[in-house]
Amino acid sequence: MTGSAPAVTERHFMSAKVHKTQWAGTAPAAADRPKRADVEAAFRTIIQWTGDDPERDGLIDTPARMARAFAEFFSGYAQDPVEILQKTFEEIEGYDEMIVLRGVRFESHCEHHMAPIIGQAWVGYVPDGRVVGISKLARVVDIYAKRLQIQEKLTAQIANTINDVLKPQGVAVVIKATHNCMTTRGIHKPGADLVTSRMLGCFRDNPLTRQEFLSMTA
Ligand code: ZN
Repeated sequence: MTGSAPAVTERHFMSAKVHKTQWAGTAPAAADRPKRADVEAAFRTIIQWTGDDPERDGLIDTPARMARAFAEFFSGYAQDPVEILQKTFEEIEGYDEMIVLRGVRFESHCEHHMAPIIGQAWVGYVPDGRVVGISKLARVVDIYAKRLQIQEKLTAQIANTINDVLKPQGVAVVIKATHNCMTTRGIHKPGADLVTSRMLGCFRDNPLTRQEFLSMTA
């Protein structure tokens, strides 16, 4: 038993690496994706596995509904956050103070259990000559949220993308969220939330700037 453990670990590690490579960025080409009928068949199998009858009246359309729901939950793979941030405005009269979009609600799913992660994001940046429409910041949150996630990665992806595309003086992202995989299953701790943050540029270098931002997330 102890002899086989390292092999399993290594295999798991390798498959995780392959997975990451394939799914970096956006979804694979449409032709490589399973057909809708295959997805519905998989959901029928899951219903059967729970112990219920997928053919009974109340459940007969459930696999189709689940497929539509999952298409919405994971619609972020089909959208490009870099493209969303392309249109910027440069007539800003030298505005160089902090811009903070507060309490953006989002729904995501954890990549370990596909259980909901419900939370809010605070997104701030200090522009360097150009700004982006504020709704675009919320769109970036949504695009990354509507993928399989862990909160730490979601936080970093939002901050890194804004930083890479807008090239501002700094970016700050704070996320507070509850994870259904720990509130409704497993350890069962309702009421607990997870707070993550990523600070770049002036938010990382200047404690006063960081503090000003964090005071808006309290
Ligand atoms: Zn989970």
